[in-house]
Amino acid sequence: MPNNQGDEIRQAAAVLVKEIDRLVKQPVRIMEVCGTHTVAIFRAGIRQLLPSQVELVSGPGCPVCVTPNDYLDTAIAYSRCDDVIITTFGDMLRVPGSSSSLRAEKAVGADVRIVYSPLESLDIAASNPGKKIIFLAIGFEATAPTAAATVLTAEKLGLDNFYVLSAHKLVPPALRALMADRKVKVDGFLLPGHVSAIIGEQPYHFLEREYHVPAIIAGFEPLDILQSVYMLVKQIHTGTAVVENQYSRVVKPGGNQVARQVLAQVYEEADATWRGIGVMQGSGLRVNSKYRRFDVRVRLPVQVENTCEDAACRCGEVLRGLVKPADCLLFGKTCVPEHPVGSCMVSVEGTCAAWYKYGAWRWQK
Ligand code: SF4
Ligand code: SF4
Repeated sequence: MPNNQGDEIRQAAAVLVKEIDRLVKQPVRIMEVCGTHTVAIFRAGIRQLLPSQVELVSGPGCPVCVTPNDYLDTAIAYSRCDDVIITTFGDMLRVPGSSSSLRAEKAVGADVRIVYSPLESLDIAASNPGKKIIFLAIGFEATAPTAAATVLTAEKLGLDNFYVLSAHKLVPPALRALMADRKVKVDGFLLPGHVSAIIGEQPYHFLEREYHVPAIIAGFEPLDILQSVYMLVKQIHTGTAVVENQYSRVVKPGGNQVARQVLAQVYEEADATWRGIGVMQGSGLRVNSKYRRFDVRVRLPVQVENTCEDAACRCGEVLRGLVKPADCLLFGKTCVPEHPVGSCMVSVEGTCAAWYKYGAWRWQK
């Protein structure tokens, strides 16, 4: 019965909150790395349930948020070419580049099409042989395998007018960079469930070995998140720091071998620029030499404008948990979801967008 189930969930949540309260003896800062966690935390009101000693901060876990200006500027430069069709996920249209956005370019005639899967780009390529189709390949380890599979399919189909503009990012190097940043203060991580389903547990073990920070691979239901916070708080209480898997119903210790193989077949690690943060060593993926003919930057170089960012935008600090969205002077004023100035206000999983949608009770104070 749905009502009984609701009661059971509320009771289980109450028990977890009581246990967290009992174990927390000092202020702790927990970073949720994944944008879906950020939204789930707000939607379920988890911040309000937790004792005030427990602070949840958002990290660089939204693929749209971390896509840098120069990538957008490059995509925009391609979109201005007559024989190009850009295919992309919808959120990317609204991300501001240095002086324009894909939405603005589309409004003045650029052929920019929203796809729900990269594979749709191949249909567009097949039915437009005179055009060059460029897929904007963004996302973390969870989405990169589908883009890689699309490249493999394009090769199989013999399509010679399909390309990717890759800005894929990797989560473990970003965690390493966060831990190496002296300004970032984090006592524990809630690790992203979908990414972990692909990469498994092993890539996170450096957190315990090198930084003695506890980390929990967490599911997305409110009870998953509360239980993960409880597991973290328990580790902090006992002075332990290990990687634990709360989401074992989905995440296997070795991850998804098939997806990892497809990824390794098409991509190789490369340095990558994260919006507002800068270059992180080995934190991105580029098409490897065997499939380089699908890499649009290699095959069709384009002139790109000089990149610049709005000086007042604090996305880089928001993405490292150094400031809260409301600390940005633009938040809720010139920067709102309908007219985002920074990328964190674009995607529904962006920290600023989540604060704007769910956090009004706090930032209005
Ligand atoms: S891909 Fe999945 S795990 Fe990664 S940020 Fe998005 S929702 Fe979170
Ligand atoms: S409010 Fe807008 S400009 Fe400020 S940090 Fe957030 S997204 Fe960037």
